[in-house]
Amino acid sequence: MRIDLHTHSRVSDGTDTPGKLVEKASQAGLDVISLTDHDTFDGIPEAVAAGGRVGVAVLPGIEISCRLEGRDVHLLGYGCDVSHQELGEELGSLRAGRTRRLPEMCARLQGLRIGITVEDVMAQARTTPSIGRPHVTDALVAKGVVKDRQEAFDRYLAEGGPAHVPRHAIELGRGIDLVHEAGGAAVIAHPWGRRSREVLTVAVLEQLTREHGLDGIETGHREHDSTTRRSLDELGARLGLIRTGSSDHHGWKRPDRDLGCFTTAESAYQELLDRIRSRGGTA
Ligand code: AMP
Ligand code: MN
Ligand code: MN
Ligand code: MN
Repeated sequence: MRIDLHTHSRVSDGTDTPGKLVEKASQAGLDVISLTDHDTFDGIPEAVAAGGRVGVAVLPGIEISCRLEGRDVHLLGYGCDVSHQELGEELGSLRAGRTRRLPEMCARLQGLRIGITVEDVMAQARTTPSIGRPHVTDALVAKGVVKDRQEAFDRYLAEGGPAHVPRHAIELGRGIDLVHEAGGAAVIAHPWGRRSREVLTVAVLEQLTREHGLDGIETGHREHDSTTRRSLDELGARLGLIRTGSSDHHGWKRPDRDLGCFTTAESAYQELLDRIRSRGGTA
């Protein structure tokens, strides 16, 4: 069984519709995927329906924008009740924070003599409820300022870059609690990737497991080299955490993340489903 539990559609910053994404997962030989758009469940119904048509099991998911000691940390929530009120309200405020920071990012770029407007970005973001930096990068590509998303991040939009503006995020411990309250399982995405490694120390991961019942960590990810993957697998095993591996697929504008380039073991997937069912979530 081939299982990929971290993917994005154009409902957030991927490039495919949820339906198309699931079709591509089927063509890539995957049996299970989770759609984990940033801060929104809007793509889930279409993905689940497509999964029924093409024979791919779709686990409802989300990637929640969290923060720990001032750093962005991404939390994957699996099997949450998508109509849970408190979680829904938090996600709404995360999306509002995304929209609020956009004019400031455009102003910074204008300050660098790059004529990008909010309208230019919205022309790229189209109907997404979850506007992000990748949509700004797409506007920069469309204007011919950079050749691709990566160059735009490297020159302007990566954390600490001249046009980067922080946005609202929720405290990581609170995010884990919310996922549990909504019946789901909480897995930290790319914990030792470029953005969160310094704050997610072994001691902090131990504490999150003990005090918040963190369910798992994503060990297999493009941002983890083989040494990092091995260290995280050993740490996860010691702490009794579920270890997942996933592509973090974003579609064709991010070519290093093909569907299924990292996958999750069937035993880990079953353990996630058991925890979701025991909490009354959707699996
Ligand atoms: P945002 O949530 O709007 O702050 O944007 C974060 C998204 O941008 C992530 O989900 C990635 O898809 C992408 N991203 C963030 N940092 C980088 C980077 N340094 N290089 C390429 N993509 C990045
Ligand atoms: Mn993304
Ligand atoms: Mn992420
Ligand atoms: Mn992601």
